[in-house]
Amino acid sequence: MESDTRPARLAALRDALARADLDALLITSLPNVRYLTGFSGSNALLVVTAKDCVLLTDFRYATQVQEELGTSATVRIESTNLWTGLWGQLASLSGAERIGFESMHLMHRDFARLLEQGARWSWRPTTDLVETLRAVKDAGELAHIERAVAMAETALRHTVPMLRAGLTEIAVAGILERHLRDAGSEEFPFPSIVASGPRSALPHARAGDRTLEMGDFVLIDFGAVTAGYCSDITRTFVLGRATDEQREVHDIVHEANLLASGALRVGMTGMAADAVARDYIHARGFGEAFGHSLGHGIGLEVHESPRLARIVESPLAAGTVVTIEPGIYRAGWGGVRIEDDVFLSDAGPRVLTGFSRALLELS
Ligand code: ZN
Ligand code: ZN
Repeated sequence: MESDTRPARLAALRDALARADLDALLITSLPNVRYLTGFSGSNALLVVTAKDCVLLTDFRYATQVQEELGTSATVRIESTNLWTGLWGQLASLSGAERIGFESMHLMHRDFARLLEQGARWSWRPTTDLVETLRAVKDAGELAHIERAVAMAETALRHTVPMLRAGLTEIAVAGILERHLRDAGSEEFPFPSIVASGPRSALPHARAGDRTLEMGDFVLIDFGAVTAGYCSDITRTFVLGRATDEQREVHDIVHEANLLASGALRVGMTGMAADAVARDYIHARGFGEAFGHSLGHGIGLEVHESPRLARIVESPLAAGTVVTIEPGIYRAGWGGVRIEDDVFLSDAGPRVLTGFSRALLELS
């Protein structure tokens, strides 16, 4: 059995609260609640003080919350509204005066509650207090992500032989998602992208009703989820023989991917990592065609800290898991993206995804 990592996570959060001069933090982000307590339900408020950790949820989760939390937090099942229960809980917690809230994860309606029913406390906006902790994965989290990578790769291996002209993108997504389920994926971290022909130039295309044709690029971007942890992978194939132009673009993206994942180091800024791939693509004449950032952290969410992007000056910590996903997109023609998941430690980068990056021509 895995050791319980929640006490260490709470201790790290309490250190962060002390540094921010806060008595408590109100946590409304459900992935943050899950990280700190293990609770995976869809309705919760969590309050953490120097001594206490109180989770409020509703009747639907009364059994589940006991199973998932163990002794990691005190549980309150609210029969009416969680916010109504919150005021009573806060009043009973000694020394909670200056309370942080998560400014990225609070609806304006709920912010208004803080200022009205919660007016007797002093509310302070915070950002990324829990997200910063989540960026560094422990051994158990890394193992979950590695399992999610293996599930995605198993599903892709089963899907690739089925790709053929005449199938719609949605049909391909259906085949892929069936195999993700067969591999044990709990859900899909985002709607699977299957983009063919000219639609492969749309970096965030969803699978549509376009029919695959010979000569198409087929870009597949998808992931698996296990124990709440995500993988995120992209491969781009050609249906039939690739043209010289398709091969050239794929080769450039492939090389940019290898250069960037190989160059990752602890302490490097997100900006410097992004530049490795971007400068190479630029030097090969396609600088304008790589319009998004290089990558992002993955974990309980498919997009989380850290970001590998042009404007990110913070250094990469040891223990992060990030995607490396350079791409080249030419409107009306098509696009190529190759995305891998990489664990970064003091020993350097370790690419978790093993599926071939070579251009596959599917007959
Ligand atoms: Zn992706
Ligand atoms: Zn991604």
